[in-house]
Amino acid sequence: MTDTSDFTADEIARGDALFKAPSVFVKGVTSMDALPDDGRPEIAFAGRSNVGKSSLINALASRKTLARVSVTPGRTRELNFFTLGHDAELYLVDMPGYGYARAPKSAVKDWTQLIGEYLKGRRELKRVFLLIDARHGIKPNDRETMKLMNEAAVSYQAVLTKADKPKATELEALVVKVTEELAKHPAAYPQVLATSSRTGSGIPELRATIAALAPNGVVP
Ligand code: GDP
Repeated sequence: MTDTSDFTADEIARGDALFKAPSVFVKGVTSMDALPDDGRPEIAFAGRSNVGKSSLINALASRKTLARVSVTPGRTRELNFFTLGHDAELYLVDMPGYGYARAPKSAVKDWTQLIGEYLKGRRELKRVFLLIDARHGIKPNDRETMKLMNEAAVSYQAVLTKADKPKATELEALVVKVTEELAKHPAAYPQVLATSSRTGSGIPELRATIAALAPNGVVP
């Protein structure tokens, strides 16, 4: 189980500093040739539709509207790039949610291809945060995404969302189960973070984790 004690006060402060700076929307990308080419390192958020990705990104940034909450069509099929930090130390990439049951087949194909190409061909990508709904655990389409990242040797880390929903004992059991499953995948980061956008639990720890990926560090 992750708790604040896994992080030093300094690490938490760096995370806070990174997300205190205004985050700026840079662009929405639907094809690989439109990706930013300034070499800035990226961290990305991926997960099934409705996993709580927009809520989590907004909670990280203490904003209500950084990432649009849920099913609004349009932006949801793009890789959305936001800057993080005073000097735009990193890009945060909001990836299109997958597994949306009512999505047309052609759209599913388009975004599966985009996600696949992005994960395979992006040197700037430092880590993907794979969001897992704490009520449901890892689903088959999460495993497909994990397979893609394993094959592409993209580093990824599981983040449980909606951690306020299960009972504490159930949440602990899920963290153990997810940790055990991820231990079988060499590209997976061993630590699983549990977060709730609703209560704010785990948010400072996730900010700290992201700040640690900024190449030249973040000055609190
Ligand atoms: P997205 O489709 O992955 O971007 O998911 P959203 O952020 O739009 O959230 C999907 C649904 O889950 C919404 O009804 C949110 O209110 C709900 N939700 C998101 N985060 C949390 C959370 O931390 N706790 C609870 N209980 N519900 C959440």
